[in-house]
Amino acid sequence: MSTIFSKIVAGEIPAYKVAEDENFLAFLDINPLAKGHTLVIPKKETDNIFDIEDNEYQQLFLFAKKVANAIKKTVPCEKIGIAVVGLEVAHAHIHLVPINSIYDIDFSKPKLSLSANEFALISERISSKL
Ligand code: AMP
Repeated sequence: MSTIFSKIVAGEIPAYKVAEDENFLAFLDINPLAKGHTLVIPKKETDNIFDIEDNEYQQLFLFAKKVANAIKKTVPCEKIGIAVVGLEVAHAHIHLVPINSIYDIDFSKPKLSLSANEFALISERISSKL
C-alpha cells in the first residue's frame, strides 16, 4: 500500500518541502491550523508511529526538533505545539503547529486556506532557518 505521503516522498505529488534527509521529510500541512503548520514523516511507510523501530523513532524526533526550532525562528508564536493524530493518513507523522493558545492546536477548528504563494514563502523561510 502506498500512502499519499509516500507519493510525496517519491515525488509523484507535490508538497511544500521544508526539510529533507535520507530518511525523513518535513513539509507544510496543506490544510493548516496555523501558518507554518508542518508535518514530519519517516520516508519509510509505517502506519502507527509507536510501531517504528527505536532508532528510527529517536531520529524522527531529533529531525522534528530541528524543524520545530526553525519554525519558531520564522513564525511569531509562543511555542511550537506537537501532536500525533494519524486518523486521516496511515503514514506516521508528527504535526508541528505554531501556537499562542490551546485553541491554536484544536484539530476540530476550521483550517486556514493559504495561497500557493503563501505556502511557498513560508516553506522557503522555514528552510532558510535550518
Ligand atoms: P491525521 O492523519 O489525522 O494526523 O491528519 C493528516 C494531516 O495530513 C491533515 O492535517 C491533512 O491536512 C494533512 N494532509 C493530507 N494530505 C496532505 C498533502 N497532500 N499535503 C500536505 N498535507 C496533507
